Amino acid sequence: MEYTPNDSRSTNKRKVVAVVGGGLVGALNACYFAKRGFAVEVFESREDIRQAKIVRGRSINLALSHRGRQALKQVGMEEKIVTKGIPMHARMIHSLNGTRSPIPYGKKGQYILSVDRTNLNKELLTAAEAYPNTKMNFGHKLLDWSFESGAMTFLRPDGSEEQIKVDLIVGCDGAFSAIRKQFLRQSRFNYSQTYIPHGYMELTMPPHNGDFAMEPNFLHIWPRNTFMMIALPNLDKTFTCTLFMPFEEFEKVTTEDQVIEFFQTYFPDAIPLIGVEALKRDYFRLPAQAMVSVKCSPYHMGDKCVIMGDAAHAVVPFYGQGMNAGFEDCLVFNEVMDQFNEDFSAVLKEYTRVRVPDDHAIADLAMYNYIEMRAHVNSKWFIFRKYVDNF
Ligand code: FAD
Repeated sequence: MEYTPNDSRSTNKRKVVAVVGGGLVGALNACYFAKRGFAVEVFESREDIRQAKIVRGRSINLALSHRGRQALKQVGMEEKIVTKGIPMHARMIHSLNGTRSPIPYGKKGQYILSVDRTNLNKELLTAAEAYPNTKMNFGHKLLDWSFESGAMTFLRPDGSEEQIKVDLIVGCDGAFSAIRKQFLRQSRFNYSQTYIPHGYMELTMPPHNGDFAMEPNFLHIWPRNTFMMIALPNLDKTFTCTLFMPFEEFEKVTTEDQVIEFFQTYFPDAIPLIGVEALKRDYFRLPAQAMVSVKCSPYHMGDKCVIMGDAAHAVVPFYGQGMNAGFEDCLVFNEVMDQFNEDFSAVLKEYTRVRVPDDHAIADLAMYNYIEMRAHVNSKWFIFRKYVDNF
């Protein structure tokens, strides 16, 4: 279907909502808006991940908690996702001498779930697309949009540009949001962005004799003062291990022998589980990734645009709540839509009012945990409590 420049998708019948970003939060949000009967258009810069051979992105798996589950439930997706998750009833602390001690997350029967990021994203895209009033536009990268005219400019896969106008723009385009750039040009928009000195790297622990190499129903943690490794189970009986470490430490390890030496010093019990050859190979496969914390306010511009998920509040992952908070954004917005009868000018304002303090609190808690960890690097008790209590 061809669109002329400045194409307005609005009709008399239905208001049109553009969800920019078809990641975790965008795909879930599309379900929410479609369920309410809006004409929903999702614009995602990547190709359709359900067809892609290789899916690039952040962490391979994520911890889904109550907050996120509640949001999935509202659009009938909780069961579908939960059945493909692995319950983690407790943390399993790996000490340097190899002893393992479990610490439950809560009361008996309480748990968080390890879920596959790509599968979760695919399921949510499929759920959004199942609504007849949703249209997916993959390979559409938002370049810019104008608050004055409301027009968005997209780069299409063939290199051409397309301009589109809708009734509401919902920016779910992640931590480096192109939608948010326009907010920065507005007066009285508060914004801060902080990169932490730590990076992260993912390593795979393969199955052993056809089964999980470690107890599967735990979030495994190796707390090591300034270093930390965690491991979450996957359905294929692998674990994804994530090593969090200051970039300058990553940079000190430059040879295969140094990788093994480093693991012998800090994570000796993990060496036979990951495998010497795999460690030597995988440590150099990808550079360590940066982690950014973004806080801003307000989350809306007039009655035209609202940002949610990482676009509004990227948080450092030490609380395991980034996606969960983004999912909760969708739930809260939906409640405010009920309260204000879908009147965008009232809804967007109220959404900012109720949501900013909560999202800022999550960002602060995640960062506090990280800063405290660095400030108390020599306290065993601290490491035990801080790393362990919150993730
Ligand atoms: P994203 O997942 O970044 O999706 C944004 C989408 O927008 C992408 O599909 C992207 O392609 C698209 N896009 C970007 N720019 C444009 C553009 N210009 N035009 C069109 N489309 C665009 N959270 C948890 O709750 N639990 C965890 O256990 C957890 N673990 C984590 C571990 C690590 C190592 C990291 C880094 C993060 C972790 N998080 C966790 C946080 C979680 O990954 C994010 O909060 C979540 O991905 C945010 O989803 P989102 O949809 O807002 O953004």
